Amino acid sequence: MEELVSLCKRRGFVFQSGEVYGGLQGVYDYGPLGVELKNNLKNSWWSSMVYERDDIEGLDASILSKQELFRYSGHEETFSDPLVDCRSCKSRWREDLVKDGKCLSCGSTDLTEARAFNLMFRTPMGPVENEESFAYLRPETAQHIFTSFKNVQDSTSRQIPFGIAQIGKAFRNEINPRNFIFRLREFEQMELEYFVRPGDDEAALDYWRDQRLRWWEDQGIEPSSLEIYDVPESDLAHYSKRTLDIMYRFPHGLEELEGIANRTDFDLGSHTKNQRGLGLVSETKKNDESTMRLAVQDIEAKKWYVPYVIEPSAGVDRGVLAVLNEAYTVEELGEGKERVVLRLKSHLSPIKAAVIPLKKNKEALVGLAKEIKSSLQSMGKGRVFLENTGNIGKAYRRHDEVGTPVCITVDFGSLENGTVTLRDRDTMEQRTVAISDLNQLYLDSLK
Ligand code: ATP
Repeated sequence: MEELVSLCKRRGFVFQSGEVYGGLQGVYDYGPLGVELKNNLKNSWWSSMVYERDDIEGLDASILSKQELFRYSGHEETFSDPLVDCRSCKSRWREDLVKDGKCLSCGSTDLTEARAFNLMFRTPMGPVENEESFAYLRPETAQHIFTSFKNVQDSTSRQIPFGIAQIGKAFRNEINPRNFIFRLREFEQMELEYFVRPGDDEAALDYWRDQRLRWWEDQGIEPSSLEIYDVPESDLAHYSKRTLDIMYRFPHGLEELEGIANRTDFDLGSHTKNQRGLGLVSETKKNDESTMRLAVQDIEAKKWYVPYVIEPSAGVDRGVLAVLNEAYTVEELGEGKERVVLRLKSHLSPIKAAVIPLKKNKEALVGLAKEIKSSLQSMGKGRVFLENTGNIGKAYRRHDEVGTPVCITVDFGSLENGTVTLRDRDTMEQRTVAISDLNQLYLDSLK
């Protein structure tokens, strides 16, 4: 983990937030390369969910959430972790971290009984600060998908089964944030809510388990690094009938990368019930199920029902940590030399190609390198980098370390005979190629 954290800082992937003031615990900033990697991972998820399928719509809902939303979802009551206080040093711990009844900080056994600590962040809303006028920062993106369910369905005329996908920030006031970007207080989720008929839910859970495992493998994760954990009934969240966690061998141990839950009709049902209870849905036709606003109609059976939902919910930050960990390789080059290479899948690489003029102050070389860069950049495959430092060896090492699939070196020969050197990250093979072939070779390197 230390090596990864150090690489992340050195090369501009991830920084501690508020570092100049000593850092804000459980909050990180993504740097110039981190933002590219993170966006590439999110785009890959979005593409596989929304663009490559015909049964899923996208959504980008608000972070600020009405109190009722998280009251009736059950989060006010149950979204908590057990907290113990150390009476000696005043530190606070999540109960499951405390071993042998000893404080992790000072070793004292003078600990309080565990009490439930709600993980939701609240913020005042509007100019009057009082107990009533606050909003929650959503602890999961899912609830907004449920409350927008009808709007999406009506505006797209979708029939069950269909899904709603969303990527966005979520906030949890974790008692002990830890392990770099694994357990954060501010993080991002990629969540799909896939609505099915009651009865089709169990098969759908298995289907999504397989889909999601395959997707992680497509991001460069070795199947042997992944494991499915069937969450025992006693550990299930309040809404879940069954949950399968995709576990990944993180540097600190085997832990959850993504949860796939069968949330049944709990959420849509509970928001429907409470809208009615609050008088938001017609009470006059009490027995008419069509007043249930989050229900759908079974046209053949002429009946209304609340769909079941399967939820694959993946953490973006845990995903970034997993793909970085998987790609990070130290290679022996012989004679005591080694190189660090990030063997990222090319669709995730923050920089797709580096164009390097052999000498930094030679106008003709730099001019040609700029032309090549613009030409490759205009192909819209991601960031192409002009590496104008004049030290080829160092540039190659730097780009190996950040996972750039190819480096293109422009030398004096390029000016005379229209060729450049193309260097492959993984094989380190260098070959002379015609500039006129570069666009195609560049595309090939991204396959
Ligand atoms: P854990 O058991 O690790 O606390 P969870 O079961 O509470 O996770 P879910 O509520 O299922 O997590 O959230 C779905 C996904 O969101 C998780 O699989 C994880 O990838 C991500 N996630 C949840 N909490 C955090 C966090 N504090 N920091 C970073 N990612 C998180």
